[in-house]
Amino acid sequence: MNYTAINPYNDQIVATFPTTTDEQLQSTIKLADEFYQDASRQATHERMTALVALADEFENDLAYYAHFLTTNMGKLQREAIDEVKKTAAMARFYGEHGDQFLINKDYPSASAPNSYVEYRPTGVVVAIEPWNFPYTQVMRMFAPNFLLGNAVILKHASIVPECAQAFQHACQKVNLPRGAFTNLFADYGQIDKLIADRRVQGVALTGSEKAGRIIAASAGKALKQSTMELGGTDVFIVLKDADIFQAAQAAAKARLSNAGQVCASAKRYLIADEIYDEFMQQLTAVFATYQPGNPSLVTTNLAPLSSKNAQAKLQQQVTDVLAGGAKIIWGDAKPIDGPGAFFNPLIITGMAFDNPMYDTELFGPVAQVYRIKNDADILKLANTSNHGLGGAIYTQDIEHAKILAHYIETGQVAINQVLSSQSEIPFGGIKDSGYGRELSDLGILAFANIKAIIN
Ligand code: NAP
Repeated sequence: MNYTAINPYNDQIVATFPTTTDEQLQSTIKLADEFYQDASRQATHERMTALVALADEFENDLAYYAHFLTTNMGKLQREAIDEVKKTAAMARFYGEHGDQFLINKDYPSASAPNSYVEYRPTGVVVAIEPWNFPYTQVMRMFAPNFLLGNAVILKHASIVPECAQAFQHACQKVNLPRGAFTNLFADYGQIDKLIADRRVQGVALTGSEKAGRIIAASAGKALKQSTMELGGTDVFIVLKDADIFQAAQAAAKARLSNAGQVCASAKRYLIADEIYDEFMQQLTAVFATYQPGNPSLVTTNLAPLSSKNAQAKLQQQVTDVLAGGAKIIWGDAKPIDGPGAFFNPLIITGMAFDNPMYDTELFGPVAQVYRIKNDADILKLANTSNHGLGGAIYTQDIEHAKILAHYIETGQVAINQVLSSQSEIPFGGIKDSGYGRELSDLGILAFANIKAIIN
């Protein structure tokens, strides 16, 4: 298996790493299990202090950590800095508030009225993470598990090995206990072995549906707890009373940030008939300001895709979308030649239910737009989907937005703001977008032993 970072701006190899050996795999599980055994007897506040130190480490060296995001997967420099800050904020959140989520819960109405539940660690948890947010995806899994006392073994996406190594470096720099966090450049067979190992008690995957089905099956076979954070085809709804300027700016940002490679982003715009023309005029004007360029320059606002493979895959998907009957209403679908993995932003329409590509997640700067007449249209489009990750609604009538949000079949819906994960709020999906929740108090409970003491 090949763990190689290739800069998607110029197609140059940046770094390559050998695959983990089976001996390394075994020694890692042993150390991770020892950490779990120690942590289950240690006070939580010691790990909270360590998480605050980890937050400080990321925050004090923003440029160092951001650099790897840009060179490994092409993230814009300013978005890379933002991701490092968000990574620090997640560690700090659990470092400062985590113990509140681990307070015993009483069950006074039980027949044994002094009964309570306590939250205990379970062992080693494997984190399989994607390349689109190489640090936050890892931190949102690591921080709550570390706080609880679970050890985390990381298998990162093979195209961002330096990011995985930088995360490990941060943990070592602040002297986290050995075994608490270990990055492995493991192959798929080794991941299967890990999941089957008796000391491993869970596996968290963030990635594609394809990987989700495979990893969930491995976890099921080994009777291990799992969480699946998978893809989406989120709607971005603009009602007739919305602030059109605000909505158009947000719609472009929600689709084009991270070069459109965001799980919970505005993939389908649903625009009220009454404001459709004006909204589209404003939206296309904002899209036109996004120009592909060198992600290391502060002036660039559209990054390359993460790899040449991602570029070729999206190009083929767009070809298939158009062959299925959809039309481009803004942008140029011609491939961009050259070493960079660039993709021109596109807005397409006419994506009908019978298009074979309907409901396919297009992971790049390609938006779909629908003209909608009423709430029934909105809910039909939003819920005619096997995905159930997120969504956003723009309107001045908050009560109306809440009613729509109530009926949209996804794990989260944002009102008058771009949907993004936040430490304080649970994040996750339903349907083919996966199961389980990360972040907030629920992120800690995902791999906890929720133990009842009957008294
Ligand atoms: P991917 O191909 O599924 O890869 C994700 C991770 O799974 C990588 O580390 C990959 O390793 C690993 N993997 C894949 N198949 C595996 C197998 N059979 N055994 C063990 N490990 C395996 O997904 P991606 O293309 O990198 O990521 C993009 C997807 O992630 C999109 O669908 C996006 O929507 C989703 N995502 C979801 C969320 C969320 O919170 N719901 C957040 C971010 C991204 P290799 O790189 O070595 O193949």
